[in-house]
Amino acid sequence: MTFTLASRHVVLEVSSTPTVEEGWLVVEGSRIASAGRGPVPDDAPRVIDLGDRLIAPALVNAHTHCALSMLRGGLGGAAAGNVVEDLFYRIERQLRPEDVRALARMGAWESLLSGVGLVWDHYFFGEALAAGLADTGIAAVVAPTIQDVGGPSLDAEGRDRSDRELAATETIALSGMPRVFAAVGPHATDTVSPALWRRAADLAERLGLPLHAHLAQSVEEVQRARERHDTTPFGLLEREGVLERVRGVFAHALFVDDAELSRLGPGHALVACPYSQLVFGFPARVDRWEASGARWVVATDCAASNDSMALRKELRFLAGLRTVGASFTSAYDAFLRGQGDAESVAATRREAYAAFEATATPAELYTRITSVPGALHPHVRAGVLAPGAIASVVVYDLDHPSFWPATDPIAGLVMGDVDAAIHAMWVAGRAVGERGDFHRSIVRSETYRAHRAEAKARLSELRARAGL
Ligand SMILES: [Zn+2]
Repeated sequence: MTFTLASRHVVLEVSSTPTVEEGWLVVEGSRIASAGRGPVPDDAPRVIDLGDRLIAPALVNAHTHCALSMLRGGLGGAAAGNVVEDLFYRIERQLRPEDVRALARMGAWESLLSGVGLVWDHYFFGEALAAGLADTGIAAVVAPTIQDVGGPSLDAEGRDRSDRELAATETIALSGMPRVFAAVGPHATDTVSPALWRRAADLAERLGLPLHAHLAQSVEEVQRARERHDTTPFGLLEREGVLERVRGVFAHALFVDDAELSRLGPGHALVACPYSQLVFGFPARVDRWEASGARWVVATDCAASNDSMALRKELRFLAGLRTVGASFTSAYDAFLRGQGDAESVAATRREAYAAFEATATPAELYTRITSVPGALHPHVRAGVLAPGAIASVVVYDLDHPSFWPATDPIAGLVMGDVDAAIHAMWVAGRAVGERGDFHRSIVRSETYRAHRAEAKARLSELRARAGL
């Protein structure tokens, strides 16, 4: 189907900076055929004039585990121990493919409802995962999780599913589905052997796919790399030639030092997941990433460690890093005790502010959930309204109070709670929900209600099998 969307407020990127101006775009099948500024051309096909509403690219969430929304709220906002190993693995050992298909849909629906059009999802039973995400209409880069050292995908005899997950990766990559793409998904450096990392890199190289992995996400992972490999997690990937051969999208990277960052290379990207990292205890130092010149993006990780798939609130956290450190300094403590003057504590705050300033402007932050992650996969361009990009578009009602006074719509898209202002959405050229009744039309639909009923039944059986 071919149609044109037009409005007096369209988010277009002019030399990598988002701007809002009158414009239009022609959607042909799953892609944007053309786009431009100014009034809609006379010969534009089937024009949908959205008037004063805001047309923006759908958001890109570069690191998710949609099925893990099943464990939302279990952590009470923070965790004392290693939650991945203590809680997640216990239930994941009992997973079956049909569970993954049913459970992944719930995280996908939540994402769609907040304007996310593309998720980079990493999970077990890759083909079931791809099917579950596709059932909802969301677009996805699916990385079937591979592990062979530890983790829940090993059975009681220690056999792993890596062969099947690597085969699934190839199947997804070659399937030609318009909304589903593949990445190769090693889990982490402490759950994947050097030999399996090399096999993952072989497959990625052969199919021209990126790697999507966790990297240096816990103190345990660093300790294990030291003990088993006499190096760091980053050092291991370097030594195995992985970083040299293929492009990687690496989630967390909490324990990658400045020298390693300087050797990362422009083909790779690091993913900050601020609220999830609060639970793990070590928010990523995006100031250091930025200073090193690394390419980096922002994602949610899963609702099990975040309680929410709302991507834009992550940006608010990053903006707040400019000042949060000041309350934890010795200058602050001294000032409280009546020692030190206001100027010395203010100077500490200025220092923290300056360190994070480059990462925190709304326009800069906006690109971390749109155009920058949208450029990470060679087979799909997303997060921009430009010819050739996937036609994933969100229309917002600028008259909604969450945008008031709507003088800077980009700041609203970054710092505001504007999900409720979503008027309409298309993913890969296909409408999601009904125009003008976006949220209600989805949650009241037969499809959503059937998906939720199946997920609920499967989750209760799964919890029973796990003894929870
Ligand atoms: Zn993760």
